[in-house]
Amino acid sequence: MKLDPYLNVDPGTMSPYQHGEVYVTDDGAETDLDLGHYERFTGAPTSKKSNITAGRIYWDVLQKERRGDYLGRTVQMIPHISNEIKDRIRALDDGEVDIILCEIGGTVGDIEGSIFLEAIREIGLEEGRDNVSYIHLTYVPYIAAAGEVKTKPSQQSVAKLREIGIMPDILICRAEVPLSLEVRQKLSLFCNVPLNSVIEETDVKHSIYEVPLVLSDQGLDELLLVHYRIARPPADLRPWRKVINAIRNPIGEVTIGVVGKYQELQDAYKSIFEALDHGCIANQMKLNLVKIAAEDIESHKTSQLEEIHGILIPGGFGNRGIEGKVAAIRYAREKGIPFFGICMGLQCAVVEFARNVCGLKTANSTEIDAKSPDPVVCLMEEQKEVVDLGATMRLGAWDCKLTPDTRAAAHYGKELISERHRHRYEFNNAYRDLVQEHGLTIAGTTPGGELVEIVEIKDHPWFVAVQFHPEFKSQPFNPHPLFAGFIEAATLRSRKKS
Ligand code: GLN
Repeated sequence: MKLDPYLNVDPGTMSPYQHGEVYVTDDGAETDLDLGHYERFTGAPTSKKSNITAGRIYWDVLQKERRGDYLGRTVQMIPHISNEIKDRIRALDDGEVDIILCEIGGTVGDIEGSIFLEAIREIGLEEGRDNVSYIHLTYVPYIAAAGEVKTKPSQQSVAKLREIGIMPDILICRAEVPLSLEVRQKLSLFCNVPLNSVIEETDVKHSIYEVPLVLSDQGLDELLLVHYRIARPPADLRPWRKVINAIRNPIGEVTIGVVGKYQELQDAYKSIFEALDHGCIANQMKLNLVKIAAEDIESHKTSQLEEIHGILIPGGFGNRGIEGKVAAIRYAREKGIPFFGICMGLQCAVVEFARNVCGLKTANSTEIDAKSPDPVVCLMEEQKEVVDLGATMRLGAWDCKLTPDTRAAAHYGKELISERHRHRYEFNNAYRDLVQEHGLTIAGTTPGGELVEIVEIKDHPWFVAVQFHPEFKSQPFNPHPLFAGFIEAATLRSRKKS
């Protein structure tokens, strides 16, 4: 669970420039991208309940106050806000839960964060200290000019925590360089944490997925089990070791171009980049990621795509860069370069196919051109035979039925799948027959056949586009089958070229 001390009620309305991608859960919550990290590292699904902000808490408490729920009492930070926070944390326990892992964002000393710290202090009091552990993450800076690390910031923040009654059980120290025994002893003494509970988290060399092994090597998992008096055999870290082995010993390198809107190309595509890494792990390849601004393709044409072994077009909103995406798809289709379209990527693939294969020169999505004579992508209610599945924005998990003998069916190895959505526009069913006659395969639909979810081109090395976001469900030890298949196809192309 992530507790965010800012006042926005949810991250759905926050700019991707400030906040990175919006991560979508199965139950359709638009959340902080940290939940993506949690799912990738733990394999445990998150939900609406896994992300709350201070704004949400205040909003709900004030509404209760207006409704008179507090029966005329004075409404205060403690206990009303702190109780609301504790209730939200405890709400995560559905009876199946062994441990609730809860991160508080921000820095100790932030004004907004202090009420969250108060709430977890109270939880320690109420649940008993041996049922709660406080793990404090600190930064141990390395001053290059002096050649030494500084423990003062850690001492200061622990002192602040103790002031409000929280005694950290474990210190995790983010550092650029390994910490000497002397430094760890100093941290232990001044921060009042046993030496074996001073865990260092030094920058890792190859991949962020090395971190669980680094933490386990220092006994972090053991410490927690002992604290909670849970008897378990040692953790089976073989899946992690396999992941790390594939990352450290690649058998080749594959170049993937992601064509999106520039600037947003940092954290805005976090899960896509991670899923590409997972696809590479599945194929023991090294990823050479090329971020391409769709608008550049509009002006400089497609020459920058020449050295690329696979092209991916991720989700997006609005018309900026659309023609560049369409040009990149045409290039991939005509030159036989593996192509993976996701959400807006599928919509652009349908537009490109309608224009350049079916001959509908003005085909478009109504999101881009509301008056297009050939709206091959449009809202559900804009379709001739109105499809009404009761949602303006399709959000969260939807089932999808795969068509036998398609690439998608082969990759998934089953008939019914579930994937997460976040979009308004859909493939326009009025054009289903036409595109199929011209060679576009409909490889997946909603179970009743109402909406198109996957399209493919059979006569192409690998051309698959999906209306959903497979990247949200990919994990390092469980790479998404479509990302694995895409990287496999790109790998074949890289070998052919070299
Ligand atoms: N803008 C498109 C829609 O709303 C695609 C959204 C997306 O790529 N996530 O349908």
